[in-house]
Parts: sequence; structure tokens; C-alpha cells
Amino acid sequence: MTSLSDLPLRDNLVGQQPYGAPQDAVRVSLNVNENTHPIPEHVAIDIVQSLARAVTGVNRYPDREFSELRDALAGYLGHDLGADQVWAANGSNEVLQQVLQAFAGPGRSLLSFTPTYSMYPLLAAGTDTAWIGVERPDDYALTPEGVVAALREHRPDVAILCGPNNPTGTTLDREVILAAYDAFEGMLVIDEAYQEFDTERESAVALLPGRHRLIVSRTMSKAFAFAGVRLGYLAADPAVIDALRLVRLPYHLSALTQAAATAAIRHADAMLATVADISAQRDRLAGALTELGYTVHPSGANFLLVGGFADPEATFAELRAQGILIRNLSIPGHLRITAGTEAETGAVIDAIAALGPGGARG
Ligand SMILES: *Cc1c(COP(=O)(O)O)cnc(C)c1O
Repeated sequence: MTSLSDLPLRDNLVGQQPYGAPQDAVRVSLNVNENTHPIPEHVAIDIVQSLARAVTGVNRYPDREFSELRDALAGYLGHDLGADQVWAANGSNEVLQQVLQAFAGPGRSLLSFTPTYSMYPLLAAGTDTAWIGVERPDDYALTPEGVVAALREHRPDVAILCGPNNPTGTTLDREVILAAYDAFEGMLVIDEAYQEFDTERESAVALLPGRHRLIVSRTMSKAFAFAGVRLGYLAADPAVIDALRLVRLPYHLSALTQAAATAAIRHADAMLATVADISAQRDRLAGALTELGYTVHPSGANFLLVGGFADPEATFAELRAQGILIRNLSIPGHLRITAGTEAETGAVIDAIAALGPGGARG
């Protein structure tokens, strides 16, 4: 049988592992930070009607510029953004890949602060971009001084600040973003995949005027409860959007994706109605695990990074066997848990409580 090592694979892909969070059909799935609430039925019906209309036209290619969707996204983001400042693709992973295709690539570099989103180094490898992972301080919180020092030392072509940060939940303060922008000459991406959960901070979209190297990346996959549709987007200067047009594949957003996303945004309030609930479940989970003796890192997102597990892999496997999926990101002593519905969150609390100290089998 042929194996990968028999193929003339690109050097920088040799030895890499594909992104691969388990997708078991379990009763409690809290491992990829989805909104676990189903979308409201009246919204589903409206989306189906929009899809039905779109289907009748799929003999033709879709609107390459997805103008209606960009208008809708601009309206959703607010801050007087125009459609010419908004871009979208099949998930913010694709948006970020396009950013790297346009502004990074061979001979160039991408910097971020680890632990952070595991796709960044994979997107770097896929675009032949050098990856620079700079370790966060012990509390995972970025400071203007730390960020400026790293950017001045490494002078990356692209830097990504993830706020709230996956997998630590750490929020990102505006002073850090402003200091970072002024510290280097490359493109600065703020990954706001979890922004809707952070009620204390305004989106970095507010910082766009006068900053043409700033990109704010968002997604409909998390708070917006739309992960299955694959719709990520960004806001930036119109010139940045022009750069992304050079690398996107023609018609990359299908007519069905455009129709579904545009319809969902019409119901933004209903789609986001569960956010406060999820945050309350996150806080409940934090309280319960703290009481059990675990270390819970402060989170502005819909998940928690939890320390104090004697053997994270064993705890992960034990919960998986019980039909509860959480995430082991190979951070020593730690596991990441998404806040779900009241019932799901209760199930994971009960399962961990039933284990012995440190998550050992009781
Ligand atoms: C989940 C996530 C994304 C991307 O999700 P898409 O589904 O591709 O939009 C991007 N960034 C971070 C930090 C994430 O956690």
C-alpha cells in the first residue's frame, strides 16, 4: 500500500498532522466551541425559503462579489462600515488562508502568541509561510510591552492576535492592539471568533479608520450558531479587500451559502439569543470546577481552559467513553471544555465530579 512517505510531498508538509478534533456521535459534544443550541425554527424556515429561491438559479454561477451578503455583514458589524470594507469566505479559516496567500507565503512569516488557535501554524505550513510562535506569559494575558518586544524582534509580515484567545479564553485589551499596530509594518489580524461572548470589550472594528494594515476577522461558526454553513468574514480597508480578490478562487462562496448566511443575518437577534445563557453556563462550569479544586483560567469566550488534571489524556478518554467529548490540546495538566446547554454543562460537571481528585478515575 502507498503511504504518505512514498509521495513527493512538499517539504514543509512532511510530518504534519491534519486538523482533527474527533467527531464522535456522542450525547454531549463540547469539544469544538460550537453553540450547542439548535437554531430557532422560524429562522430555519426562513433560511429554507431563501435556499429554495437560490436553488432555482444554480444553473448560473453565483454573484462573485456576494454583494447582498456583504451588505448584510456590514450592517451587522455596524460602525458605519460599507460593503467594500467587508469580505467573506467558507469559514474564517479560509478568510485567514486568503490573508496569508496575499500577505505572507514563501520567504515571509506569520507570528502569534501561544498557546493559541491550532490552525495558525497549519495555515502557515499550507501557504509556505514561516511560523513564529511566541509564548504567552504564565497568565496567558498579552501586554503592550510583551507584544511590542516580540513584533520588533521578529518583524513578521503578518501577526494574529486572537481575542478572546482560543484555547485559553483570555480577553484582548484595546491598548495591546494599538501598541501592536504601531510596533511593526506588517498586517495585523485580530481574530474575533468569540467576540460576541465578550460583553465588556468593543470590537476592534472600531479601530479600523486610519489603520489600513488592520484586519478584523469574525465568524458565524461560534456565537452565531451557524458552524455547519461555513461562513467567516473580515472587516478591513477596501484596499485589503482588493488584495484578497487576487487570491480567492472565482465564485468561492456558493449561491446556497450566500443565501443561507444572508437570511440568517436578518435574524441576528434570534440567532444570538442564547449567548447570555451560554455565558451563564460557562460561569456555572467555572464555579463548579473551581470548587472541585481545578484551576479555571478567566474566559471571555464560550469555553474554559481548565488546569489541575493529573493525566489529561486519561480524563479525556474516560469522559469520551461516557459519551462526553471535551478537548485535549496537549497543554500539560489542562483540558478545554465548551459551555453547552444547561443539561450538557450539568452532565460534564457531574462526570468530572464523579472522578477522583485531579480527574483520576474514582
Ligand atoms: C473556531 C475558530 C475559528 C474559525 O472558524 P470557522 O468555522 O472556520 O469560521 C477561527 N479562529 C478561532 C480562534 C477559532 O476558535
